[in-house]
Amino acid sequence: MSVKKIRTRFAPSPTGYMHVGNLRTALYAYLITKHEGGDFLLRIEDTDQERLVEGAVDVIYKTLEMTGLKHDEGPDMGGPVGPYVQSERRGIYLEYAKNLVEKGEAYYCFCSKERLDILRENSEALKRPFKYDKHCLHLSKEEIEEKLKAEIPYVIRQNNPTEGTTAFDDVIYGKISVDNSELEDMVLIKSDGLPTYNFANVVDDHLMGITHVVRGSEYLSSSPKYNRLYEAFGWEVPVYVHCPPIMKDAHQKLSKRNGDASFEDLLGKGYLKDAILNYIALLGWNPGTNDEIFSLEELINVFDYKNINKSPAIFDPVKLRWMNGEYIKKLTLDEFHELALPYYKQVIKKDFDLKKLSALLHNRTEVLGEIPEQVDFFDTLPEYSTDLYVHKKMKSTEETSLQNLKHLLPILEGIETWTFDVLHDEVFKVIAELGVKNGQVLWPIRTAVSGKQFTPGGAFELADILGKEESLSRIKKGIELLENK
Ligand code: GLU
Repeated sequence: MSVKKIRTRFAPSPTGYMHVGNLRTALYAYLITKHEGGDFLLRIEDTDQERLVEGAVDVIYKTLEMTGLKHDEGPDMGGPVGPYVQSERRGIYLEYAKNLVEKGEAYYCFCSKERLDILRENSEALKRPFKYDKHCLHLSKEEIEEKLKAEIPYVIRQNNPTEGTTAFDDVIYGKISVDNSELEDMVLIKSDGLPTYNFANVVDDHLMGITHVVRGSEYLSSSPKYNRLYEAFGWEVPVYVHCPPIMKDAHQKLSKRNGDASFEDLLGKGYLKDAILNYIALLGWNPGTNDEIFSLEELINVFDYKNINKSPAIFDPVKLRWMNGEYIKKLTLDEFHELALPYYKQVIKKDFDLKKLSALLHNRTEVLGEIPEQVDFFDTLPEYSTDLYVHKKMKSTEETSLQNLKHLLPILEGIETWTFDVLHDEVFKVIAELGVKNGQVLWPIRTAVSGKQFTPGGAFELADILGKEESLSRIKKGIELLENK
């Protein structure tokens, strides 16, 4: 028996940004097909011309390229079942709708906007969802001919039964059955002759040979109507894979409004694209082991869509941070340096050895966007309170700090080669001489050279990068502050 090649598609509507949920859909569609050596298509669903955003399609291309979700067919490279942009396929759909009219599965509807508005108001008053009353289904052939000849505007509606049930199978959610009385006779072709989004979606999935329809669970409720269309046409129904919603917390869906929801937002905050993709893979799927770090290649190997969960996935920023940190640690120092440079440049204009800074930050950084606040003291010493010199555990007080910094100053001034090692040796000699705790000397140096409570490195590392002149001037400043308290 020959097995049919799997074909999935990512069918985004261009909105101008890549919602994390959409990217996950793209990823799962990609993994499902690549796991079986199948094809991955990109189709742009731009039937809703009113909602078009300029440059929105580029966001889609860019994201797929960055994340490595390479499509085999799509608007940019063509393919055997193109065009791959719905607005370029506008001529295709009417004939399919007419075919359904002939079969009695759809009908012309000439109802005026006024009549529909009244129907809508009535259902609102009864607190019922709007349902077209099939008024035009009962027009005679002659009446229809006449109206068409008179060029009365019309739409074509799906003719759904009002009794019985419609069921379909979803791989994740199982068998879903709805009462036909709930099915709206949805519009397939609008009065301008163009298809509705719902109709184009089904016709395109069929014409493009899509075997597995992968999309968000928000489409579950429309799927019975889609399913009826496949059946009305006599087309093979695809395998449905509806993915669970991604939630911000137990109550709210993750939405663009709460900041973390788009791929661009996350990149902007300094998350790495591979870490984002890896994290997103786990939003609703798990490998059945404790492994969590996967490259795209590894995901292709282990991904089994039957392991997608139906319970909502919670987007956990803490876990994403951790994962991003893991990806940062896996970078070479040079790679990290390259990525960190633009962040240094935001706050450091003076000429420091930034490579040394990268060595300090490499293993301590979870999100690149937090680098500037960690290194902002290099260019200018911030204003700080002498309270910073107080550290209980280090047994450091303002008094011990002043005393120790004053003692150290001439010794540091005498150092000729200002390096980490020399500083280390000289300062430890002093500590031994004075017979004090390490912290009583190291803490005030670090505080004086940074003016901050938290720094990406210790006293010697910071002083080494700052250089002799700058370090000494900051230590003098510290002494002055402590003296004038
Ligand atoms: N165009 C739809 C969206 O962007 C996708 C629908 C589907 O995948 O069937 O949400």
